[in-house]
Parts: sequence; C-alpha cells; structure tokens
Amino acid sequence: MSEKLIYLQQSDLTELETKIKKVEGNVVEFEKTIIYPGGGGQPMDIAHIIQNSKEFTVLDAQQKDDTIIYTLDDELNSKQPVRQLVNKTDREQKCQYHTLLHLIAAVAGSEYECRVSSSEIFDDHARIELLFPTNTKKSAFDQHTFWDAVLTTLSNNHSVTTKVINRKNIKDESSKVRTVVSLIPKEISKIRLVTIDNLDTEACAGTHVSNTNKISKNLIFTAKSKGSKKIRAKVEIIS
Ligand SMILES: [Zn+2]
Repeated sequence: MSEKLIYLQQSDLTELETKIKKVEGNVVEFEKTIIYPGGGGQPMDIAHIIQNSKEFTVLDAQQKDDTIIYTLDDELNSKQPVRQLVNKTDREQKCQYHTLLHLIAAVAGSEYECRVSSSEIFDDHARIELLFPTNTKKSAFDQHTFWDAVLTTLSNNHSVTTKVINRKNIKDESSKVRTVVSLIPKEISKIRLVTIDNLDTEACAGTHVSNTNKISKNLIFTAKSKGSKKIRAKVEIIS
C-alpha cells in the first residue's frame, strides 16, 4: 500500500499540492493523492483540481493496486503543479458514516454474532445488512437496546487508528480481525487494518474519523427484517 495514497494516512486532509505523474487527454495520475477513488461501499470524493487558477472537476476514478487514474472534465498541463481540493463537508460526513458502520458491525458481532453481508454509504444515510447465525439470535435482536449500545460507543471516546501489515503476518492478528481475510483477493499482499480502540479491528481501505467522539450524536437509526436471519439497519446523520 503506497505512501502516495495520502487519504489512507490522513483522512482529514482536504487540500494538497502535488505534481502530475502522467497525463493523457483528460485522464491523469498524480504523484500523490488525497482523493478517495470510491470502493468498499464508500463513494468517490467530491473533488476539484486547481491548476493556474483554473478549476477542473474530478468525474471518475479507477484504482488498480496503488495507482489511481482520475478522469477530469478538461485537460491539464502536464508540466505544472496542481492543487487537489476535496469537499470537506462531504468527506467529514463519509468518515462519520464509515466509522459508524464499523461500530454497528462491531456491536452486532459481539452482541449477536452477526456478520456483515453488505454495507453502503449514500449522500444522506448509510446502510448495513447484518446476517445472524440463527433465527433465534435474530429474534433476540432488540432495536432500542442495540442502538443504545452503539450510541454508548460514541460517547466513550475510542480512538481510531490504522496500520498496514503483510498478509503473511495476518495470523498474529486474525483473532482480532473481524473481516474474513480469506475473502480478500489473493494478489493483495498488504492489508490495512482499521482499529477502533478496545472495540474492533477490521481490514478496510476507506476513510474514518480519528475518534468516535467526532461522530454526530444527532442520529436516526432504523432496522428492518430482510428475510431469514437478516436485518437491514439504516443510520442517518441529521445536520
Ligand atoms: Zn472502514
């Protein structure tokens, strides 16, 4: 995992000066980037590029390993430096939602032995599907108790940190890691672990807040059954 993917280390950085590594028409690769390309249920950032006082909109991003290729609405000059601007409000909200999804998964995992079957972040809410090991466990699920437990984690100031480890060392960590590592494609040799202190460790390449106290407490939670052994939970941050 490359040091040029700055958003992996500094999720709160929304402005960066960098140079162009490669450009072909309106398709560009930067030497460094703070622009999250999308993936893992988290959409691409809303981002702009400034070069010589001219503003370009980032339309698309494609990631392959450590390389991200961005498509802009116009052609950049390959010789001149650029400034990347990520929409701060949007990024902060996605970081909150993404960390909330980890918290929900962690509480559901520890209280009900749930696994996550899917999760996704949208502009105005995030949703997660929780798979219970048995219907009995699902019947025992009480929405209000559950959300109270999630809210408690927000007030307990858990720090959120990341580290990158070699896949072959994952055995040392596996008892603590919730994501089934065997599901991560074999060609990925380095795995980024996101740890919510005293609560949870998960393999993830998204952006998160640095402490659970940075997540809004103005939240609307809902949950509904999605068939056998499954519940779909939705969380909305009210601004
Ligand atoms: Zn994550």
